Formats: sequence, structure tokens, C-alpha cells
Amino acid sequence: MESTIRPQADELSILVAGAGIAGLCAAIALRRAGHRVRILERSPQLDNEIGAAITLAPHAVKIMRLWRLDFAKARLIPRLGQTFIDSVTLAELAPTDRTNFASQYGAPYLFAHRVDLHAALRTLATSPDGSGVPAELHTSSTVVEYDAERGGVKVAETGRWEFADLVVAADGVHSNAATHVLGYHCPAHATTSTVIRFLIPTREILDDPHTAPLLRRYGEGHCSFYLHRDQQRWLVRYPCRDNTLQNFGMYVERPLSKRGRNRSQQQQCRPDDLRAAMAGFHPSLLRLCDKTASTNTILPLWRCAERSPLPSCQRGKLVVIGDASHPMLPHRGFGAVTAIEDAAALGVLFEDFVHTTTTATATAPGSNLNSNSTSNSKSDSVPLSGSARTSIPPSASISDLLETFQNVRLPRTSIAQLYSQVETNKDPTVERREEALRMLPGDQLPRE
Ligand SMILES: Cc1cc2nc3c(=O)[nH]c(=O)nc-3n(C[C@H](O)[C@H](O)[C@H](O)COP(=O)(O)OP(=O)(O)OC[C@H]3O[C@@H](n4cnc5c(N)ncnc54)[C@H](O)[C@@H]3O)c2cc1C
Repeated sequence: MESTIRPQADELSILVAGAGIAGLCAAIALRRAGHRVRILERSPQLDNEIGAAITLAPHAVKIMRLWRLDFAKARLIPRLGQTFIDSVTLAELAPTDRTNFASQYGAPYLFAHRVDLHAALRTLATSPDGSGVPAELHTSSTVVEYDAERGGVKVAETGRWEFADLVVAADGVHSNAATHVLGYHCPAHATTSTVIRFLIPTREILDDPHTAPLLRRYGEGHCSFYLHRDQQRWLVRYPCRDNTLQNFGMYVERPLSKRGRNRSQQQQCRPDDLRAAMAGFHPSLLRLCDKTASTNTILPLWRCAERSPLPSCQRGKLVVIGDASHPMLPHRGFGAVTAIEDAAALGVLFEDFVHTTTTATATAPGSNLNSNSTSNSKSDSVPLSGSARTSIPPSASISDLLETFQNVRLPRTSIAQLYSQVETNKDPTVERREEALRMLPGDQLPRE
């Protein structure tokens, strides 16, 4: 962003609801942009965060590189290959994809353990090191209501309203912030997609001659998709935490009960539940179920939730980001990276915010979801929208900037939601092209 006139920047007070990936990234971006951030998090503590692993596409990696996230300390590792495999015979269904993301897109595609990533983001948001004032993190602070016009949130634990110049709702898939933006109830709804996630130490798999070939055949940094012919089930595996752990997600389509449509549910899972979900899979894969019994690393079954794209994601002084704005199916690994982009876009828009005359230009680097910009300047590698150049008007107010945020982010996040519905082994840019073209011109459509 280039300002032709640069009066003294104004420090805004900003409240962020939720300390997930979206909320922490918003805090990082907005503290770097010169503002005072308070994060209100429902959980009583964050250092017992659980979770499996997550993939981070190059455009998110570029943003985190800009923020100086220490990838080595967070034990993130690059994806070196991906193969679709028959879950019954272990035959390869297509040649291994060995895209070199770093050379093609300017940054690697990374695998992260959620706990490691979360800890690294929390440090960037709240540590005294780094640009700007460290964000304050308040745990046991549940936001139960929003006041979009006055920039307020009501906190359950104190019963009090807190006010700020800007409120960022990043409180996840069950957030009611969109209701406050739109004026009608619009909850995310449960889907037929469920996933059982589990982790197994790499060493345990390699030490067992029956399971070792699953890893040895492909080497480190490899992602395997084991697809079942019933087209209702697949297992995904990739390493995390410096290759010391293997992360698995067993996806199963399960019908919804009538009662179940309005909530996404979690239920405890035992190795037997996993075995039942993997019935008919190759014996080497089934052997993995036994290993979860000894390591006790099965997370509760997760029923995925989604919602159709929203017509609006901001009103007054309130903006909604991350899963609170655009909950989507996890099949393509778009949710967190889209949240990271949201946060970075806020940082660019509110950088050096002044209430007086400013002329500024926010430049988007390209329309590819895995954008290939290699620039390292503070703001120009943040994908605000397709290839559009967006002019921020002189004397941009908070609501002007939020409107710009909406104009540049909503088409892109809505398309990510549509793409996320497409099966892993199909091309979403083909399957959802017509609907996507209603949101962005063809030359600006995100490619996968
Ligand atoms: C199985 C699975 C696999 C996935 N894999 C990937 C992947 O590989 N790559 C990818 O990019 N994405 C992936 N995703 C999606 C990704 O996990 C989410 O999109 C992302 O975590 C959303 O972050 P968030 O901060 O918006 O929401 P959340 O992570 O839900 O964080 C919300 C935070 O707000 C807090 N909170 C909730 N309510 C309140 C309240 N009322 N007041 C205050 N605080 C509150 C919560 O405690 C939490 O800390 C996956 C999702 C699933 C389910």
C-alpha cells in the first residue's frame, strides 16, 4: 500500500473474538499495522489445544513468511509429493504429483501440527518482540452478542459490554456474528461428511514390517490419499512435526438424522470405530488401527459443517472472518489458508490508518489461490482479491475500509467455499466454474 500523503497514523483499538487461526492471524496483522488489539477467547486456557495436522498452501505460507513466523521452530515441513492410491489393493490410481511449489508458486506447501502452528501464531500475536504493540489475550471471555454499529461485544463471564473502534469476529463455525451483520439467523449446518483424525509416531509405522512400506515407498514429506471404490470413504495421510508424526484423516459419508442438520457434532471414537470405518481396506492400513490403541491418539469424530456463501461479511464496525464467515468442507484444505488471507487483507487495509486524507492503493498479486508472487514487501504479497487493483478512497473511514474488505474478499472466499465441496480427486475449477463465473470474471478466478 502506498500513501501519497502520510500524516501521523491513528492507533485504533480493536477487539478480536476468538483465538483460533483466524483470530490470532488478525491480531498479528493488525498489531503490525499499528493498532492496539485485545483478543477475547472463550476457552479458559490455550496451551492444552488439541488437534491433528493441517496443510498450508503457498499463498498462506508467503503471508506467514512476511510475518516472520519461524517455520523451523514450528516444525513445519514441505509437501514433496502426493499420490492417489486404491485403499483395497494399494495400487496407484494416478502418477505421483511432485509439483515443486517453492519454484512454481514462490513458497512451499507446508504440513503443520495444529498445536505447533497455534503456538507459533500466539507468540507472533502477543510477544513483546515484533512490530507494534503486543496483542492482549483474554481467556475465559465468551462473546455472546455483537453491536455492529457501536463496535461492541458482550462478554458472558463479566456480563459487560466492551467497545472498540473495530470488532473482528473470528469465533469459528458456530459464531453468531453473521446474524448481527445480516439481521437474520444464518447458522452453519451439519453435513453428511465426517472425519476421524488420528496421529501415529512415524517410528512405530516404520518399525512394523507390515506398515513400513506405506511410508518407505514414498519417502518423507509425502501425502497419500487412499480412496475406496464405494466413493463414500477415503483416508488421507501426511507427516507433521518434523516428520516424527503421521497425521491421518478417515473421511466417511454418513447420513444425517433429521435432528442433526442444525448442528455439527463431535463424538468420542475408539479403535473399533476406526476399524469399522475402514472395513475392507488393505490389511496394512487396518493395522494402523491397532497402533492407535497403544498411543490413544484418536480425536473425536468430527461432523463437518458448512454454509452457503454470505451476501455480506461486515456492517458498521464489525467484520466477520475465518470459519465464522465462510465455513467450508475440509476436503481441499482451504479453510485455514482462507482465514489467514482474511487476516492479512485486514492488515493491509488498516496499515497506517488515518482519519484524514490519504490516497492509497492495495495491489493484489494474482488470481491463483496458490499465487506466485515472490515479492517480500510488507503489503504487496497479500492476495486481497483476483487481479483487480482496488483503490481505497481518500479519507477512508473504518466502514469504507470494511466495505473494500468485503468487495475484495467475499468473491474469493465464496469461491473457496464452492470449490471445497468438490471431491478431492476432481478439479473444482472445472466442476464449479459456472457458479464461480457469477462471482468473478474468468481471468480472475482462483485456480487450485
Ligand atoms: C478435519 C479438518 C481438517 C482440516 N484441514 C485443513 C487443512 O488442511 N488446511 C486448511 O487450510 N484448513 C483445514 N481445515 C479448516 C480449518 O481448520 C479451519 O478453517 C480453521 O481452523 C478456522 O479457523 P478459525 O480461527 O476461523 O476458527 P476456529 O479454529 O474454530 O477458532 C475459533 C476460536 O474462537 C473461540 N470461540 C468460539 N466461540 C467463541 C465465543 N463466543 N467467544 C470467544 N471465543 C470463541 C474458539 O474457542 C476458538 O479458539 C480443516 C478442518 C477440519 C475440520
